Amino acid sequence: LHAAYDPDNIFAKILRGEVPSVKVWEDDAVLAFMDVFPQSEGHVLVISKTSRARNLLEVEPETLARLAAAMQRTARAVEKALRPDGFQIMQFNGAAGGQTVFHLHFHVIPRWTDRPLKG
Ligand code: 5GP
Repeated sequence: LHAAYDPDNIFAKILRGEVPSVKVWEDDAVLAFMDVFPQSEGHVLVISKTSRARNLLEVEPETLARLAAAMQRTARAVEKALRPDGFQIMQFNGAAGGQTVFHLHFHVIPRWTDRPLKG
C-alpha cells in the first residue's frame, strides 16, 4: 500500500491504447472492459480514466462516485444481457489484499447457481 503509482501498470497501458482491451462502456471519466482472465462469463472491470489512485485509500470522492455509477450501469447491462442469478462486486487493496494490478479497479462478476465458482 505504500509505493507510488506506476504509470506503466497494465491498466494504464490499456488506457493509453498500448495494450488492447474489449471495451464495454466508457465516458470521459470511466472505462469498463472485459477481464482477460474472467472468473465467470461477463466478468467486467471498471476503472477511472483520469485518477492515479492505486486503491480505495487514495481515490478522490468524485472519482469514487463516478466509478460507483459505472458499476451500477455495468451490473444492469449484465443483468439484461446475461440474466445471472446474482453478481459480485469485488475490489482488492495491496498485494496482501490480493491486488495484482495497482490502478484502482472494481470487479463486476455475474454468478449462476448452477455454475461452480472459478475464483
Ligand atoms: P486484482 O488486482 O483485483 O487482483 O485483479 C486484476 C485483474 O486484472 C485480474 O482479474 C486479471 O485477470 C485482470 N487483468 C490482468 N491483466 C489484464 C489485461 O491485460 N487485460 C485485462 N482485460 N484484464 C487483465
